[in-house]
Amino acid sequence: MPKKNEYGLLIDYEYCTGCYSCQVACAQENQWPAGMSGIQVIEVVQKLPRDKAYLAYLPFPTELCILCAPRTKKGLEPACVKHCMASCMKYGRVEELAKEMSKKPRMVLWVPR
Ligand code: SF4
Ligand code: SF4
Repeated sequence: MPKKNEYGLLIDYEYCTGCYSCQVACAQENQWPAGMSGIQVIEVVQKLPRDKAYLAYLPFPTELCILCAPRTKKGLEPACVKHCMASCMKYGRVEELAKEMSKKPRMVLWVPR
């Protein structure tokens, strides 16, 4: 059960283009060394008949995600949310995000522990 006034990230990966902007934005914002980030974009390849493939991308928060506390304290959006051109991510109260998540598939709700 989410705690009252707990915040998280809602990720709608249906429209994720795999641009990696969220991953780069997080690394820049938090000055992570190369290869580290609070979010990693994972490529999933589904093989199709006749040598074709369907590519899907899944932005996946890691244990390094601090929900951009220094930014959100100032009323700014998390860096990954701000830089996602496809508007795949939303930051907000977990209770509200969970309601939104129930409306459609291909969504992930992330709450740091
Ligand atoms: S909320 Fe901030 S710390 Fe977490 S993944 Fe996004 S940019 Fe990184
Ligand atoms: S910035 Fe948005 S579209 Fe690009 S990889 Fe991240 S979630 Fe996907």
